[in-house]
Amino acid sequence: MRTIYDLPLSKMEEMLKAHGQKPYRAKQLYNWLYRKRAASFEEMSDLPASLIEALSLEYLLIPVKLLDKQVARDRTAKYLFELEDGATIETVLMHFNFGKSVCVSSQVGCNMGCAFCASGLLKKQRDLTAGEIVGQIMYIQKELDAEGERVDNIVVMGTGEPFDNYENVMDFCAVVNSDHGLSIGARHITISTCGIVPRIYEFAQGHYQYNLAVSLHAPNDELRRSLMPVDRAYPLDELMKALKTYSEDNHRRLTFEYILLKGVNDSDEDAKQLADLIRGMNAYVNLIPYNEVDENGFKTTDERRALHFYDVIMKNGVKATLRSRHGDDIDAACGQLRARHERNKE
Ligand code: SAH
Repeated sequence: MRTIYDLPLSKMEEMLKAHGQKPYRAKQLYNWLYRKRAASFEEMSDLPASLIEALSLEYLLIPVKLLDKQVARDRTAKYLFELEDGATIETVLMHFNFGKSVCVSSQVGCNMGCAFCASGLLKKQRDLTAGEIVGQIMYIQKELDAEGERVDNIVVMGTGEPFDNYENVMDFCAVVNSDHGLSIGARHITISTCGIVPRIYEFAQGHYQYNLAVSLHAPNDELRRSLMPVDRAYPLDELMKALKTYSEDNHRRLTFEYILLKGVNDSDEDAKQLADLIRGMNAYVNLIPYNEVDENGFKTTDERRALHFYDVIMKNGVKATLRSRHGDDIDAACGQLRARHERNKE
């Protein structure tokens, strides 16, 4: 069954029109769903009873069910949700001094096959609908309501490749960004891609205000190919060309994500090549400590080396940040909690 969270305002209006309703009903529904955080259609007291009945027959309201939750010492919380068809997904809540960030999944499993990533341990089963992504946010927002807090930032960096599920992810963004709903500013929403070039052009043409982050993880094709199969389809020169087009057409600053993997991509030469690749672009590099995954043998670069790598990039004229670790003591790496649950099922 579809969930009502699937519908951006414009699609909600179309749906209601098909039910013989006036467009203003869409805003009423949005108010119930996203402002009053309704848990059922029945409580939507200013909607006609016939519409409530029709909606309950056609749409699910809450698409996610909590199966497990782990909370780390730093309060980073990882949620394992079950969807209507029994598939499971992960969502993470992080408490930063600049606000609360939620990291959502965009697919069940992932086909990108990055060598270091736990998500890829389970191949893609299906795309998430827009509403299943919205549902992750709404579940956590309802929890935060009890503390008088709100979801401030959203990163589409959980399991899945958002640009391999483009339309649903863009619908999801439209729902959470809507002024009639949660009203999360576009600049507080970040989409992270491993580099699907045609979708980057499409995204550029849409002139969205959402932030774009790109998982680079290697400064040359030879190394990147060994870590990320997507590089075979879209090598670095094509990727960088698309990103330059995006950033110049949209006047937006890009983020490059670079996980530091001990002895793999963290040499001075790697740092110099990385700086050469990016210098001159409106972009910065986010250096990410690697969350070790038992299954694959990659290790985290130690802190001294990470700081040095950061220095080399900065000295070579490219801005960088070194991200601190979160949720170390739980299964925080993408896909780890889900992978463990799947193993326990066997
Ligand atoms: N498919 C998208 C979004 C999901 S992955 C993408 O590739 O960007 C989000 C980020 O987490 C990516 O940069 C990914 O490379 C990184 N990542 C994956 N496994 C990780 C791990 N074990 N530790 C740290 N970062 C990881």
